[in-house]
Amino acid sequence: MSLPVYFDCNATTPTLSIAADAALDTMKSFFGNPSSTHTSGLQAKMILESTRQKAATATGALASEITFTSGATEGIQTAIFSAMQSEAELRRANNNSHLKRTKVLYGATEHKAVPQALAHWNHILGLNLECISIEVDNLGQLNLEELKKHLPSALLLCTMAVNNETGVIHDLNAIAKCLAPFRNQCLWMIDCVQGLGKVTLDFNTLKPDYAACSGHKIYAPKGIGFLYVRTGSPIVPLIVGGGQEKGMRSGTENLPGVSAMGAILDALLNPASGLFFSHSTLVEYRDLIVKTLVETFPTIVFNTPFEVSVPTTLNFSVPGFSSREMHDLFDAGGVRVSSGSACSSSKVTRSYVLDAMKVPEWRSLSAIRLSFGPATTLQEIQKGCQAISEAGRVLRQSCLLPRNLGQDSPIPLTDGVIQLTENSASTWLLVDTASRSCLIIDPIDEVSGRIVQFVQCQNLKVAAILDTHSHADHESCRNPLAKILENHMLDFGKTDILGWPSQTIKVVLPDGNAADAISLTCPNAIKNDDQSHCVLVRVLTPGHTNDSVCYLAARSLADGKVTPESVSLVFCGDTILAGGLGRTNFENSDVNSLYDSLKKLNSILPPNALLCSAHDYNSTFTSQWKLEKSTNPLLQNLFCDASKCCPEIFAEQKTLLDQGLSQRESAFQGMVCGMTSATSDSVQNCVSLPFNDLKNFFLNHRNNICVIDVREPFEFEIAQNSSPEVLSFFPDLGAVPRNVPLSRLVNLVHEMFSNSSCPKALLFLCRTGVRSEAAARSFRRMGFANCWSLIGGTATGCTIAPFSAKQKETTAFADSRSAP
Ligand code: PLP
Repeated sequence: MSLPVYFDCNATTPTLSIAADAALDTMKSFFGNPSSTHTSGLQAKMILESTRQKAATATGALASEITFTSGATEGIQTAIFSAMQSEAELRRANNNSHLKRTKVLYGATEHKAVPQALAHWNHILGLNLECISIEVDNLGQLNLEELKKHLPSALLLCTMAVNNETGVIHDLNAIAKCLAPFRNQCLWMIDCVQGLGKVTLDFNTLKPDYAACSGHKIYAPKGIGFLYVRTGSPIVPLIVGGGQEKGMRSGTENLPGVSAMGAILDALLNPASGLFFSHSTLVEYRDLIVKTLVETFPTIVFNTPFEVSVPTTLNFSVPGFSSREMHDLFDAGGVRVSSGSACSSSKVTRSYVLDAMKVPEWRSLSAIRLSFGPATTLQEIQKGCQAISEAGRVLRQSCLLPRNLGQDSPIPLTDGVIQLTENSASTWLLVDTASRSCLIIDPIDEVSGRIVQFVQCQNLKVAAILDTHSHADHESCRNPLAKILENHMLDFGKTDILGWPSQTIKVVLPDGNAADAISLTCPNAIKNDDQSHCVLVRVLTPGHTNDSVCYLAARSLADGKVTPESVSLVFCGDTILAGGLGRTNFENSDVNSLYDSLKKLNSILPPNALLCSAHDYNSTFTSQWKLEKSTNPLLQNLFCDASKCCPEIFAEQKTLLDQGLSQRESAFQGMVCGMTSATSDSVQNCVSLPFNDLKNFFLNHRNNICVIDVREPFEFEIAQNSSPEVLSFFPDLGAVPRNVPLSRLVNLVHEMFSNSSCPKALLFLCRTGVRSEAAARSFRRMGFANCWSLIGGTATGCTIAPFSAKQKETTAFADSRSAP
């Protein structure tokens, strides 16, 4: 497998050979306990003390001021606890009459270890100090005027040398100057984790009280770090016991880690070692990456202000791409970066560091951090640049980035439904390859750029852009989208407020009523004979809002009759959600109308109709009408229980249900368009298949298994190019993975329902196992019992049990565990 390019050095660095060798050597030959007085102990002690001296020399400290810790988080705790405990003792001695120091200060962009530790120890020690976050300017540097305001009443100031997300260097000299008049009352801690080895650290000049460093950020292993405590500054041990580290940190020392740290410090102190590159070389490396990124993503915006940052960190955002997408794209291409913002299950959260720098929201939501290290080689930089360029090529081919004339032609258009979901809201595209046209339903702003890109790049005609209802909290982006795509729009005459055109045809619905429709050329998804033609029929379904409608993709005969079984897809907006119904407590909603609309839909829809809702709160992607009727208690009452199907009972139950929405909204942090609960017993069941059970799984379902890779096509293609080995064991087992991305899962559901010879078992795959699990759960929910997701995905499944040729020969089918 080709080795990935590691550009996430701010998270952790690879352990350099000199460090690993030193650790191994210590474990093998110098394993004594430094507290022992025999020769082995003395040898160990010598390693400990010589490393201490190197740490002191590298930071302008005295050896006696260095205490080894497990890492920076421990160092930060010790410093904060020491400062606060000394204050607690002072207050006790003065009977609390001496409360001059009422605040602790920290920079707004500090690593979370700092504010969390401040709040924790403040609480534990009951000091009731005010924890104040000092704002930063647009460059991410501390606002010194703001700092000065708080210093007179501060007990402790916590700042950092270099920010971990952006690489911004803090001006420690300027901070020291502000602090100078208050030095005998305000202690100072510097988090030097991202500074060691990248900027000059001279504690003798700066004179902080505490400074925390970590080994694993500078090519030593995890579990080793050191804390500088200035001579005379308060220190209270967090860990007591054997009295090691002069009683400041008990516990037998991590000598292999210390030894590895020593090897790294040696290299840092000795530039002739050539292991760490000079600042100017690192700037050249950054320039190479910047050039590649700008060529690949012409609209990229850098969030790192290069003029005040270390050259090894580049934080950037690309319009139209979320952090998660970019992260997954880079990862698939074998380039390890990290997303600057955190992704929870349904919502992407922003980067608090970029928020503090007041960068626009979209940049904070889509930030990516690319960080190399001072020992990254030119070859690695070049390989990374190549991988980034290749990712750009695939994105252009996938119509996710603009293509220039002469560049590779786009990936061929595929027929069917595309679901673009952002923060649980779904936009639907119905694509017909024969006529190269599409319909856009329920467009949301977050994905409109992507739709424009797709339509323009594939040169599609747009039959209509439709909303299923008007929105309570925002304007639809339908009109702006239609304006941008005006050269692509087919002309069906003037449109109404939801985008429905005036030039329609009349059809007769299965319930005998007439309805308006627009003619479509048939996408494969809804075609299965030549006698009829395809239509998109509008059915008025007020309730969720007064203007709510559903659009049915169906076939009609020559006499205009829509055959009941032909209604295959229902774009039902928020009227029906998987496991729920649209809300009816808007000003312009009406629960009685919803009752009538559901009754009407039931007289039109075949049981198998697939629902394409405007929200997907539970990652169910789609649902079936008959499934909703049998699992949603309100619909069960409505259609299956003669004693509870009257409008009054429906209205009462629905109104009660909607009262729970405010609670749901606070959890979701946004407006929720309907109360849903899509869980059922089958959804709760385990769907995960461990890698080690794969062989038995294939054995049990010989020739009747379909492996579906649910990554987006660009990610799938890049992954295949960059690490084909990952997927290569599936053909050996008897199945070539088929790529059906989550955004096209509805087509697979349709295929499975309409094809009687569908495979017995489905195994879903993705990079981490998260998306594949959602797919497997969705299919289980819809009644396909034998659907599984590979635990850990392609990322870790294969590292747990690599299928080497030898292993295949010797252990195939030897696993005695029974497979599902
Ligand atoms: N401070 C900063 C700036 C960091 O980047 C990190 C690690 O991410 C830490 C503190 C915590 O360091 P450690 O992992 O050694 O506990």
